[in-house]
Amino acid sequence: MNLIRSVVARPLTGFAARSGSLRAYAVDAATPAPKPKKSTFSRVGKFIWRLTYGSALVGIATVAYGIYDGRHPSEQPPPDPSKKTLVVLGSGWGSVSLLKKLDTENYNVVVISPRNFFLFTPLLPSCTTGTIEHRSIMEPLRHILRHKKTAVTFYEAECTKIDHVNRVLTVRDDSEVKGDIAETSVPFDYLVIGVGAQNSTFGIPGVQENACFLKEIADAQKIRTRIMDCIETATFKDQTEDEKKRLLHMVVVGGGPTGVEFAGELQDFFEEDLRKWVPEIATDFHVSLIEALPNVLPSFSKQLINYTEKTFKDEKIDVLTKTMVKKVTDKAIHAEVTSPDGTKSMVELPYGLLVWATGNAPRAVVRDLMTKIPDQAKARRGLEVNDYLVVNGTEGIWALGDCAATKYAPTAQVATQQGAYLARLFNTMAKTQALEEEIAHLEDLGHATGVVEDKKAIASEIESKAKVLRRSKRLMPFQYTHQGSLAYIGSDKAIADVTWGEGNNLTSSGQLTYLFWRSAYVSMVFSTRNKMLVIMDWLKVKMFGRDVSRE
Ligand code: FAD
Ligand code: NAD
Repeated sequence: MNLIRSVVARPLTGFAARSGSLRAYAVDAATPAPKPKKSTFSRVGKFIWRLTYGSALVGIATVAYGIYDGRHPSEQPPPDPSKKTLVVLGSGWGSVSLLKKLDTENYNVVVISPRNFFLFTPLLPSCTTGTIEHRSIMEPLRHILRHKKTAVTFYEAECTKIDHVNRVLTVRDDSEVKGDIAETSVPFDYLVIGVGAQNSTFGIPGVQENACFLKEIADAQKIRTRIMDCIETATFKDQTEDEKKRLLHMVVVGGGPTGVEFAGELQDFFEEDLRKWVPEIATDFHVSLIEALPNVLPSFSKQLINYTEKTFKDEKIDVLTKTMVKKVTDKAIHAEVTSPDGTKSMVELPYGLLVWATGNAPRAVVRDLMTKIPDQAKARRGLEVNDYLVVNGTEGIWALGDCAATKYAPTAQVATQQGAYLARLFNTMAKTQALEEEIAHLEDLGHATGVVEDKKAIASEIESKAKVLRRSKRLMPFQYTHQGSLAYIGSDKAIADVTWGEGNNLTSSGQLTYLFWRSAYVSMVFSTRNKMLVIMDWLKVKMFGRDVSRE
């Protein structure tokens, strides 16, 4: 061992003795060599990798927690009937937004709606062609209510009458299964009306009987069935050419966002699936969009209107503007066309499927209430409300969303913000009431005590509570913040009018905007379960295409 050491050591010492500069090298060799400096590139790469890895872990943990939390609601104390009864009508955007943010322990909350689920309407047009399955955009209301701190009573029923003077509602169970009681009354202290709107037909003859609408799940299912029905009948043996053309003419009336999105979805269905699986309809299948105004999407910017109309032209969707439908029969649409020189003429358009999307009209229960309140005499579009969403001419009755006539468009965005505002209002009202009771109790104590120090301490506590009370009573009126509008226009393209800050606005369109549209809507879907279902539906359609069987 020593021999080996002396053999190795000797030449090194001799080498070092010969050259002073190399001596230094010999000394360095004995100490560990410095690590080579890492390039900025590799450090950034490592950082990105760690960030991605970390984000993926956080993402998985969040999803896992979301699933666990969704399936394991905690124990709920039952509703307390001694508290003020707050009745909420409807289970749509406005009412559900209110219910999500409401502290239910402060009230005896009762929800009444003919639908025991919340419907994510922005993806409803995708259900008409099977791009999204309808259950993926339905959120069971029971899940939402079961996660509240204190239990909420739910009745699946339709409110048919609102007696605002005696503060009582008439509600009817419309389900197919009937119990002994089909109609009853529900009293209320406070009432929030969030019943949405129904489809407007402007009383045009034949629309109600012959058209399909697009507001509810059943509407989307009916359209899906009807599309396939028209196709299978058009390909029936010995069908005449004219009849085949009529059956394969799919007409959408109303160039607002509902009509445009549906027309885009339908053309996608044809191009991506129907054309392939039913080639015999390829030359005759045809989508037309009819709009009374000079252009589609009047609420969007000019640039996006032009983009949409050009995209539709490329997709071979016929856009008939300045065309107002006047009458509908079971096989044809009669419309008045205004030509560029202002002259008007009537045209007859044979159709197989007619989807009517011309906006909203008040529901019967709302119309009935409007006629009973003198302050609502001039109301047309819905219940007129003040800046705090209180129905004009009533006390303790609020209206939100599509059933309220405000200066804002009837959108989910508006309804959601109104719901959140009313939840804050009710939470504050409860806090205020509790503070008032505490102050009254302290005042009694102050009168009862004879000790001067105690009197002083009580007075100062009353003052501090009164300060909080004054602050919470200063309620601001409802203010809407517009975040922009999005719409799908077919061929994997979308348009976006995004607004932020003080009137900053950005418009964008095309396929990247479509990715934004998808991610925005997935993030807005309430539950982890439904987010996953929607994503899986999109993947399923990408991999296997849409189902062309008739339900
Ligand atoms: P709704 O969401 O319609 O809910 C009304 C609720 O009241 C329902 O639960 C209903 O069952 C219940 N109800 C009805 N009658 C009674 C009764 N008599 N008694 C008790 N309950 C009753 N807006 C956007 O901002 N972005 C979009 O992308 C968008 N896309 C849309 C796509 C389609 C196809 C449609 C039809 C609408 C879309 N909207 C969109 C508009 C949006 O859906 C509505 O503005 C929104 O639903 C209004 O919310 P709401 O709570 O007032 O009414
Ligand atoms: P809408 O009121 O926005 O549009 C209806 C269209 O139908 C109008 O352009 C009108 O001129 C036309 N029309 C009316 N009568 C006609 C007739 N007889 N013949 C031909 N055309 C006629 O209705 P909508 O598209 O159902 O939308 C309703 C509400 O929901 C709107 O506030 C809309 O903004 C909102 N919404 C938003 C989105 C989105 O943001 N992506 C999607 C759907 C609906």
